[in-house]
Amino acid sequence: MRLTRAVVLSAIFCLIGIAIVARAVPGDEISARAHKLHFSSIVLDTHDDTTQRFFSADYDLGKRNADGHVDIPRMREGGMNAIFFSIWIDGKIMGPPAVQKALDQIDAVHENVNKYSKEMVFARTAYDVRRAHEEGKIAALMGVEGGHMIGNDIRVLRIFADLGVRYMTLTHFYNDEWADSSTDKPAHNGLTDFGKEIVREMNRQGIMVDISHVSDKTFYDALEVSKAPLIASHSSCRALCNHPRDMTDDMIKALAAKGGVIQINYEKSFIDQAYKDASDKETGGVVQQLCEITKHCNNDEACVSRELANREKKLTEEGKLPHVSWERIVDHIDHAVKLVGADHVGLGSDFDGASMPDGMEDCSKLPKITDALLKKGYSEGDVRKILGENTLRVMEQAERVSRELRAHP
Ligand SMILES: [Zn+2]
Repeated sequence: MRLTRAVVLSAIFCLIGIAIVARAVPGDEISARAHKLHFSSIVLDTHDDTTQRFFSADYDLGKRNADGHVDIPRMREGGMNAIFFSIWIDGKIMGPPAVQKALDQIDAVHENVNKYSKEMVFARTAYDVRRAHEEGKIAALMGVEGGHMIGNDIRVLRIFADLGVRYMTLTHFYNDEWADSSTDKPAHNGLTDFGKEIVREMNRQGIMVDISHVSDKTFYDALEVSKAPLIASHSSCRALCNHPRDMTDDMIKALAAKGGVIQINYEKSFIDQAYKDASDKETGGVVQQLCEITKHCNNDEACVSRELANREKKLTEEGKLPHVSWERIVDHIDHAVKLVGADHVGLGSDFDGASMPDGMEDCSKLPKITDALLKKGYSEGDVRKILGENTLRVMEQAERVSRELRAHP
């Protein structure tokens, strides 16, 4: 009897063992349900600095590149079918040279999209994004990262809108002429009167007001002035990582109360406190480091990203910077969802502009986020909202506000 029971028990354990082995999958594999959901959804990333790479002779949007985070083959692999290409230049460049450089980048986005028009189509509205999805194409959109690029001239904002720009962050790392940044000393007590006029003009033009990078006071001023919901195209939660680039719980609640969306940023020093503390100690923090490297590289952007990656790799190998898991991204999504619900959270990776955590090496890894959210018990509808539908909703609201303001000026 004992022997029989032992045999039965060992057979059961053996079967359990086989079942565990059969279910064990490599780290990057996801469930069939997550795969089906992810690859049938609109996966819209609101912030990618890939535009800078268009100026490098080594980069080709249509081919798989050995470095960086985004290109068409990897977007296909990761199911990322809508992308906001960021128009960005250093915040110390102001006036007409800033406008000129921004126009260079806007042109580069259009040229690259045209070059790969079989795969990609330029989108100006939420409807355009949905149509691109139905046609199996990637929707390309544009956002300006920093109000300094209008050269302190409100007319440039209208020209940007005509060229297809659909959001603008009010600042980058430094204050501009009319708004305070989160990573600079306050100079304007938030938004100046001209800054408020710019927000109103953005509403009229259908350009979403993006509060990533701005100071807390600028955020509250913009929230009060804007007639359309705001976005934070690439910010995470300050409750989990105390960085001024992230949003406090109160800010996230205020943003959501007016219908806005926080699109979570994957940058290691914005999502992980231990990494942020170590990085501050070793490099003086993200702004100081960028400033130093930009000088060292004489403003050559390819050199800047190479140098940033090399220094980070070296510090990590020396054990001076801790490893950060991609699961921290999911923690930030989950924190924001618990705070304000699934209608107000999205994805704003900062690919090609930030240091990615382990396991999120490029955009091909995005399905893991869908898988992780389903495993946490999120409904398929809520996951779709986070992947892209929430951002499309805010775009539609911004379009509606624009139509109303133009009809009744
Ligand atoms: Zn940024």
